[in-house]
Amino acid sequence: ATPTALMVGTGRGAQLGILIKGPEVLETTRRVDTIVLDKTGTVTTGRMTLQTTHTTDTTTESAVLRIAGALENASEHPIAQAVATAATDATGPLPTPEDFTNVPGLGVQGIVEGHAVLVGRPRLIADAGISLPPALSRALEEDEAHGRTAVVVAWDGEARSVFGVADAVKESSAAAVAELRALGLEPILLTGDNRAVAEAVAREVGIDTVHAEVLPEDKVDVVKRLQAEGRVVAMVGDGVNDAAALATASLGLAMGTGTDAAIEASDLTLVRGDLKVTADAIRLSRRTLATIR
Ligand code: ADP
Ligand code: MG
Repeated sequence: ATPTALMVGTGRGAQLGILIKGPEVLETTRRVDTIVLDKTGTVTTGRMTLQTTHTTDTTTESAVLRIAGALENASEHPIAQAVATAATDATGPLPTPEDFTNVPGLGVQGIVEGHAVLVGRPRLIADAGISLPPALSRALEEDEAHGRTAVVVAWDGEARSVFGVADAVKESSAAAVAELRALGLEPILLTGDNRAVAEAVAREVGIDTVHAEVLPEDKVDVVKRLQAEGRVVAMVGDGVNDAAALATASLGLAMGTGTDAAIEASDLTLVRGDLKVTADAIRLSRRTLATIR
């Protein structure tokens, strides 16, 4: 490989909106045969909105929004931002939580106005030994059946509400997946989100293989298992939760619109956060190295 050709390839990448960490990255890019795609913020926009709220008889919607919103206001998760925005719109400035803790891949917990509050996946609430009353269980199933992520709110040992949140698939995601397939890569969707939502998104963009409800620390294992099958794996992600998997993959690609942690862990950054540019990167590496040999 001549350094000049690689430099030209790197420069061409910059023009396409691809930041390449080092010229040697192009060689790995050329060999990739499997591409693991994070869902939220990578295949979808990551701009979540609160679409449904269900509360128990003992709690009003504004009380739930205020208390859950106060806690989520301290988190940067796209779901947290959706809840905090809806809460601020409905109830005004939010109280400041105490003892805030982010539970990666599950939700948040803390104290709001003297209440011990949990907001997150059904599993976060179940792990705390709190069960859902039948009306909330039904609301949860209804949300998930419609492709909305169900977020449960509990405080002082009782489940109070279920929110349905959702974002949209990015405009170019389906075309991007089709291009990656045409280049001979197998696309795989990887997400911490629930199976029903993950499968709805996969269907919409044309992905057959889905790994859902994967905790952040387990995303790495999915990549390692694929590598153990002899595959050369690329991973595309945007979140703090994706950083370890991005670093483990033979090729890590970060959305330029994503977190610093994801960008630092990656070999390539897609400046505009457009998945279609992933296919451009593969084509660029193949062309650049073809001229070298
Ligand atoms: P992804 O892999 O899709 O980027 P994450 O690993 O960040 O998702 O989160 C997995 C799931 O955990 C989310 O779909 C959501 O149900 C739940 N979750 C995580 N953080 C929060 C939060 N701050 N508030 C509510 N739910 C959360
Ligand atoms: Mg993400």
